[in-house]
Amino acid sequence: MKKNYLLSPGPTPVPERILLAMAQPIIHHRTPQFSAVFGAAAEKLKGLFHTKQDVIILSSSGTGAMESAVVNCFNKGEKVISVNGGKFGERWTKIAQAFDLVVDEVKIEWGNAVDPQDIKKRLDADKDIKGILIQATESSTTVKMPIKELAAITKERDVLLVVDGITGVGVFDIPMDDWGVDILICGSQKAMMMPPGLGFIALSDKAWAKADKVKNSKFYFDLKKERKNLKDKTTAYTPAVSLVNGLLEALTMMEEETYPKIFARHELLAKGVRAGTDALGLKMVTKSPTEAMTGVYLPEAVNGKKFVKALRDNFGVTFAGGQDQWEGKIIRIAHLGYFGEFDMVIALSSIEMALHKFGHKVNFGAGVGAAEAVLHEGFEVK
Ligand SMILES: *Cc1c(COP(=O)(O)O)cnc(C)c1O
Repeated sequence: MKKNYLLSPGPTPVPERILLAMAQPIIHHRTPQFSAVFGAAAEKLKGLFHTKQDVIILSSSGTGAMESAVVNCFNKGEKVISVNGGKFGERWTKIAQAFDLVVDEVKIEWGNAVDPQDIKKRLDADKDIKGILIQATESSTTVKMPIKELAAITKERDVLLVVDGITGVGVFDIPMDDWGVDILICGSQKAMMMPPGLGFIALSDKAWAKADKVKNSKFYFDLKKERKNLKDKTTAYTPAVSLVNGLLEALTMMEEETYPKIFARHELLAKGVRAGTDALGLKMVTKSPTEAMTGVYLPEAVNGKKFVKALRDNFGVTFAGGQDQWEGKIIRIAHLGYFGEFDMVIALSSIEMALHKFGHKVNFGAGVGAAEAVLHEGFEVK
């Protein structure tokens, strides 16, 4: 028997309550029963997004919501900045190019965050730039981007700040209205504790006004059409009914825990894991880490691809390794969504044992012990 643990930053584990909600028989989507669930979920999404705007629910993975932002809010030939500090930034560039936008790509060295002042200079120098495409967390490098600072720069300009918050929304606070984020995007399989399959997107008044003027062709991802349907608590096409049942349960669970406590839990787990990896001598890959996950370099003598595979196939613990230039060099430990203190103990314990198997000298328990010295703060004994 081998017990499996999913410790990857997406998809993340799904709690039993949500699994059970999704196991209900399928009801027809053009019924008051479904509309009640859909409408309640849509209302709760405003709390997650920290916005008064409608949050559109799309039956697609997160990338579909990214594509919908581009096709609804930018015309062919319009100029945008794409911040490319990793695989997901690169995806923004590819989507924008696929729809014939003119992309000013800002390449960032992997592991670094973008400098808001550099973006400000580019906007000052080129008034044709109409959008900035960026991630809240660049998941491939575990970097948290300075969204608040960028929003302060774009707020007073004729520029839309488009944030892929797929590994940010629900991980840490991104109050889109307060900060002035124009487009915020999320996906179901990260902090929301759900299976993959739903994308979410909210637009500011400025972004909706822009969408009114955009002529780009689109069909499935027509956000104005979806917004109109949302007013009637329905969708333009058949929604993923089971996932919407799960969504309402997920948002109910998040509200029960409360958002401030969710953010604090993610911070504590990050702090605990990092105490553990420090104690094991594993260096972090960035000085600007996200609360969603911890990325560390593996010892040079360890083949990271084989290491992650052995953890998955022999220990039953699934982590994400590195991509592209970091393939085989790093490991990413997730702590967003349905994760608690003891999951971090499993993460560190399995890494200690695997390091030993790969010939690296380990003081068994050193990482786990250092983490426990932090993680116990998560428990209150009255
Ligand atoms: C996981 C992730 C995505 C995923 O997109 P999918 O289409 O759902 O695979 C996009 N952006 C970021 C930053 C992510 O972390």
